[in-house]
Amino acid sequence: MCSVEEDIEDISKYSGNLRSKTLKEYRNLHKCKKCDLKSLVLLQKKDPFCKKCFFEYCSHKFRSTIGKSKKIKHADKVLLACSGGRKSVALLHMTKETLAFATAKQISFIPEILFIDESVASPCIEENRNHTIHNIVKELKSHGFPVLYSSLEMVCKISDNQDFFWNCENFSSAEDFPACCDSQNCLKESMAGMSLSAKLDYMKHLRLLLTTEIASQAGFNHVFVGDTSCSLAENLLNNINLGRGSQISADTSFCDKRYKITVCRPLREFLNKEIAFYLHLNNCSYTVLPDLLTKTEAKSSIQRLTENFITNLQEDFPATVFTIFRTGGKLLKQDRVLITETCLLCKSKLDNIELDACSALEALKLSEQLSKNSIPVVAESEYILSKSNDGENLEISRFLCHGCSIPFRNNKKRFQFHPILKSVHIRMKRDEMKEEIKDFLINDDDEAS
Ligand SMILES: [Zn+2]
Ligand SMILES: [Zn+2]
Repeated sequence: MCSVEEDIEDISKYSGNLRSKTLKEYRNLHKCKKCDLKSLVLLQKKDPFCKKCFFEYCSHKFRSTIGKSKKIKHADKVLLACSGGRKSVALLHMTKETLAFATAKQISFIPEILFIDESVASPCIEENRNHTIHNIVKELKSHGFPVLYSSLEMVCKISDNQDFFWNCENFSSAEDFPACCDSQNCLKESMAGMSLSAKLDYMKHLRLLLTTEIASQAGFNHVFVGDTSCSLAENLLNNINLGRGSQISADTSFCDKRYKITVCRPLREFLNKEIAFYLHLNNCSYTVLPDLLTKTEAKSSIQRLTENFITNLQEDFPATVFTIFRTGGKLLKQDRVLITETCLLCKSKLDNIELDACSALEALKLSEQLSKNSIPVVAESEYILSKSNDGENLEISRFLCHGCSIPFRNNKKRFQFHPILKSVHIRMKRDEMKEEIKDFLINDDDEAS
C-alpha cells in the first residue's frame, strides 16, 4: 500500500535533482562552448557561442562548403545573385570577409554582383519603384564589387539579340534604370490567371534562367545563390508537391549543373536563424522588398505553407531541417527513365514523355481527363486515354517538363505569351498552318518531277 507522505518525499527529492541539473545546464549555456567567455548566441538549443567564436564558426562553415566541393578554382569569375535581402547580404558579406582574410592558396575567386529587379510581379512598390531599386543598388555597390542590373521581364529578350543586363557603374540617378513595357506586359500576360503557387514556382525558374544566361553572356564561371539549409528543405518539399520529383537532387545539392553556368549554394549548411544572428552581430543592413508572399495567409500557397512548416521545425527540431535537405541528394531518378532532351524553362531532363502506361504521370493524366469530362462511360475509357496523350498536353510536353507545364497545360492562350516559348509557339502555328494547306503547296519534289 502506498502512502501520501512517501509520494511527497519522492517528488521533492526528484525535483531537487532536476533543479540542480537545470541550473547547471543554464550556467553552461551562458558560457561559450569554445572559449568559456560569456555567450551571446545560442544555436541548436545547446551550442552557446561568444561573438568571436560565432564568426569563426560561420567563416569556417562557409569556406569548407566551398572548399569541399573543389569546384571553385583560382581566379574563377563568380556572379553573386543578390536581391538585397537577408540571405544575399550575408552571402555578400561572407564572400568579402573570406576573400580578405583567406590566403590565395586557400580560396580565391573574382566576384561581381547581379541584382534582378522583380517589381513587375509586385504592384506594391510600382509607384516609387525606381527610387527603391536605386537605393538597393547603391547599398550593394558599397561592398566594393561591380554591380550588374537586370529585371525579371528581360527574360523575354534572352533570345532577341538585345541588351538584357547593364553595368550599374554609370547609373547615377533613379531614372537611369532601363525598363521595357512590352516585356513587362508579356510577362504579366503569361502569368494572368495562374494560382499563387504556380506563379511563385514560375518566377523562381525564370529568375534562375535569366541569372545563368547573364552569367554565361558576361563570361562568368559560376553563379552563387543565397540558398540556406532551410530554403533547400523547403525546395525539397515544394518540389514533391509541385510535380518536380525528378529534380529534387539538382535542386538541393551544392552544385546545380542543369544550366549553362553552374549554380552553387555556399550557404547550404546555414540555418536561417544563424544568418539572422550573423547579420545582427555584423550590423549589416538589408532591404526586404514586398513580393507575392507579402501579407498573404499561411494557407495561400504551397510555398507559404512549407515555409511556415520549416520555420517551426527550425525552432523546435533544428537538426531535422538538415535531415530533410540531406535526403534530397539521395533521391535520384534513374537516368534511363528520363530522356536526353531538356525542359526549355528549368533545363531539367524531360520527365513527362514516358512509355510506361502504369507510371504515376499517366495515372495523373487519366484522372485529369476524367475530372474534365462529365461521368465517362466505361467503353469510352480507351478513347479518353488516347485523347490524354495528344493535343495541347503533348505539344507542351515536347518543350516543358511536367512541373513547368502544369500552369500552361490547360490554357493555350497563356502559352503563347510564355517568354521562352513565344518563338516555339510561332513555329508550331506555322507548322500547323502548313499541314492544313499542304495539298495546295508546290514543294521541291513536285517541281523536280
Ligand atoms: Zn568563444
Ligand atoms: Zn521544367
